[in-house]
Amino acid sequence: MDEKTAKMLRASATSMSSVWLFSVGMLCGLFLFLSSVTPELGWGRPSAQELMTTAVGEDVPEIVFTNDWRNCGGSSGHQGGCFSPHTPDTIYVSPNLRYTVMKYVVLHELAHYEQFKNDVEINECDADAQARAWGADTSGSGYKCD
Ligand SMILES: [Zn+2]
Repeated sequence: MDEKTAKMLRASATSMSSVWLFSVGMLCGLFLFLSSVTPELGWGRPSAQELMTTAVGEDVPEIVFTNDWRNCGGSSGHQGGCFSPHTPDTIYVSPNLRYTVMKYVVLHELAHYEQFKNDVEINECDADAQARAWGADTSGSGYKCD
């Protein structure tokens, strides 16, 4: 190959590698941007399962994320969670809740699981208080307890 072709090839290799570097840079930048604006997605935060085991250890109910009738009629627009004494080893939580809401719902239903297990009366305000003690933000709770 002649000098001219070799020069052209070198130039195009250089520009290809800068395109590649630019793309990598953009991906890193995009990731940092997303993780800074979307902490609500729960990236890097404890999962629902970890929230429960952190609160009470390994004896925790199974979580089923569902909008169907098991979640207290979730399909009818209800957003939240459900604990039923008929299925005490399972709690039902709406899918796609914002992280802070999911955390509250999971810990509130976990409190009902503990109430049931310890033969304590199922009580909404006590469950909110317990969820708060475990670190949940209960300010969005529908229960008027204070
Ligand atoms: Zn409740």
